[in-house]
Amino acid sequence: MGRRSNNGDGKQDNDMSRFSADNYERPVLEMPNGADKVLMHSCCAPCAAEVMDALAASDIETTIFFYNPNIHPRDEYNIRKEENIRYAEKLGMEFIDWDYNARDWFDRTKGMEDEPERGIRCTACFDMRFEVTADYAAENGFSLISSTLGISRWKNMQQINGCGERAAARHPGMEYWTFNWRKEGGSQRMIEISKREEFYQQEYCGCVYSLRDTNQWRESKNRPKIKRLVKFYGREVLDEEG
Ligand code: SF4
Repeated sequence: MGRRSNNGDGKQDNDMSRFSADNYERPVLEMPNGADKVLMHSCCAPCAAEVMDALAASDIETTIFFYNPNIHPRDEYNIRKEENIRYAEKLGMEFIDWDYNARDWFDRTKGMEDEPERGIRCTACFDMRFEVTADYAAENGFSLISSTLGISRWKNMQQINGCGERAAARHPGMEYWTFNWRKEGGSQRMIEISKREEFYQQEYCGCVYSLRDTNQWRESKNRPKIKRLVKFYGREVLDEEG
């Protein structure tokens, strides 16, 4: 049976179950810029899967571009990437595993170590990732790029779109697709799909500073520190203390 819920703008939504991954009738997406394919920067499987499903349902030729030298440490990077590869293989989507030039990322964000999340360090971080995405797109015949980063409610979508548009503007004729992947229950399906696929559940954005800051926040709330590499959507963490 359906339930009523408030959709955030004061209106009652009749039945959120119509947005569930099982029931949702996906609209046919139209790519801007007259594009015939898209290069989709991906940050991780939980954010990417709903976007990938939406693109697949519209038969959009999609290449996943995994470029995230911000993720720290290396084993965290590896598990996030492997989960994304697993889902790309399931959908038969091409997956580009790009460089892990972490040293360059630390250079780019030097002096911003103590900036808060959604601040200027994050702008530099998005800029770096999108510039490389746009460069790859230009060299490989893509006129349209986008990113899965914007689906997360932890992120500032305007900030991400601004960085994406700036990166695309470096190449004549290229566009950054600012589609709002959160709308029409996108955030709800993101969690549903993550549980269904039992994706690895990261508990910090990615960089060493976000790990530090999340742990400091947890400490201030008397909560245990993050235990990396053990938590998966839809699975119980059996050894909480050990
Ligand atoms: S908090 Fe996230 S977006 Fe911001 S710099 Fe760190 S990894 Fe990048």
